[in-house]
Amino acid sequence: MDGCIFCKLVKGEIPCAKVYEDEKVFAFLDINPVNPGHTLVIPKRHYETVLEMPEPEGVALAKASVKIGKAVKKATGCEGINLLHNIGKAAGQLVFHAHVHLIPRFSHDAMLLGWPRKQYASNEEQEDYRKKVEAAVGK
Ligand code: 5GP
Ligand code: ZN
Repeated sequence: MDGCIFCKLVKGEIPCAKVYEDEKVFAFLDINPVNPGHTLVIPKRHYETVLEMPEPEGVALAKASVKIGKAVKKATGCEGINLLHNIGKAAGQLVFHAHVHLIPRFSHDAMLLGWPRKQYASNEEQEDYRKKVEAAVGK
């Protein structure tokens, strides 16, 4: 897509630190890593988020993310990995070309993942959400 920075990386119009490429997927180091080795895995074709991706491309992205996740762990010696995909501005998405973050993590690194947790007001409220999500998923 015109003007998309990640499409330009895939086409080689802008340089990047590429670590993997296949028919459908491209992966490179994030320019501002949380920790060194922080890698982005993206579909070669432009989709804003994974929610718009057709299944074969989604499967290819998921498979490559696992493969590259193992490689990032081996290469960095990290203790854990955050595999994240920010979907939409409210979720922190800044670049609107679908991408999976593979963030190498260490027990005492500086990354904060604050997840303030709520509780359902009642079992009925939880059941209401369960039914809504189940119905939306469909068969
Ligand atoms: P988002 O917040 O959209 O999930 O994250 C986008 C990520 O893309 C950020 O972590 C940012 O550092 C990275 N990024 C943005 N522009 C470039 C670029 O031109 N090259 C590389 N390698 N990474 C980029
Ligand atoms: Zn794009």
